[in-house]
Amino acid sequence: MKCKILPLSILTLVFSTWVNADPLVIAHRGASGYLPEHTLEAKTLAYAMKPDYIEQDVVMTKDDQLVMLHDHYLDRVTDVAERFPSRARDDGRYYAIDFTLAEIKSLRVTEGFNVDEKGDKVAGYPNRFPMWKSSFTVPTLAEEIELIQGLNQTLGYDIGLYPEIKAPWFHRHEGKDISKAVLKVLKEYGYDSKEDKIYLQSFDPIELKRINDELLPAMKMDLKLVQLIAYTDWNETMTYRGEVAEPYSYDWMFQSDGMAKVAVYADGIGPWKSMLVDDESTKDNIIIKPLMKQAKDASLVVHPFTFRAEPDRIAAYATSFEDMLDVFYNKVKVDGIFTDYPDKAVSFLNK
Ligand code: CA
Repeated sequence: MKCKILPLSILTLVFSTWVNADPLVIAHRGASGYLPEHTLEAKTLAYAMKPDYIEQDVVMTKDDQLVMLHDHYLDRVTDVAERFPSRARDDGRYYAIDFTLAEIKSLRVTEGFNVDEKGDKVAGYPNRFPMWKSSFTVPTLAEEIELIQGLNQTLGYDIGLYPEIKAPWFHRHEGKDISKAVLKVLKEYGYDSKEDKIYLQSFDPIELKRINDELLPAMKMDLKLVQLIAYTDWNETMTYRGEVAEPYSYDWMFQSDGMAKVAVYADGIGPWKSMLVDDESTKDNIIIKPLMKQAKDASLVVHPFTFRAEPDRIAAYATSFEDMLDVFYNKVKVDGIFTDYPDKAVSFLNK
């Protein structure tokens, strides 16, 4: 095809419709590929890698403090089972909400592990930071914000927060309003408008609507909200009928009008990678699922999770981690990604 010379204004217009100007890197649980997730050390290392945002997963303690943990349990990343053996619930889990901040602060944090049939602790990622080495603890939300804001001051970057309110349905059932508590802390630290460098995320659509419709206006705040998307059978969000918890059905989000409905209360979505690119895709035939277009048609930003560099976490249609980034940043044209390896995504985008 012969190249025609177009006026600059038209070029800009054409260009902007298919190039995602400034896609984001979100450090998932910190630089969690390199150091135990959600420790201040993992956040500091992530910061030095210059992502756009660093993620916080927030759960509540017995004494209503907000701490950084991915699960609302303590058993995958701490020595709670050895320290407080009698404090598990009937399901064998140690719930953060049953422990005070002082108790949680006394725990030792390690790289995440699972307990196998023999009762041995096996690292979730065998080649990541060695289990039980060095010395790590569970930070509070305030401690982490002060770390990031302090580094923004000393290093001069403008790295944002990307907090996730974990299992608000569970906290609500336990009589705690975690969303209100998170918003209060965010406001205290100056995050109160859509112009501030923060996205607030949750898997729970009922709670996200409540935040948008009730809590933010009542607190004179307005933040960018991201609806994380699960499949119903992940049991990521539950609804209670008395004491019986049933999985919340996400099916409506995958209907043709689902994203328009999300856009009423949120600014973006956080889908699982496979919700955007069909797992049946091959290198020469990347199949982009309808959710992507539906989200963009509804003017939502799209920040899929989770990009991990371990060989068994590279999608079959990609030849390498960088190739997987290329598929999502350049073919699917997502607005950002959550990654355990923020350095690799930053260097990919800088090329
Ligand atoms: Ca998260």
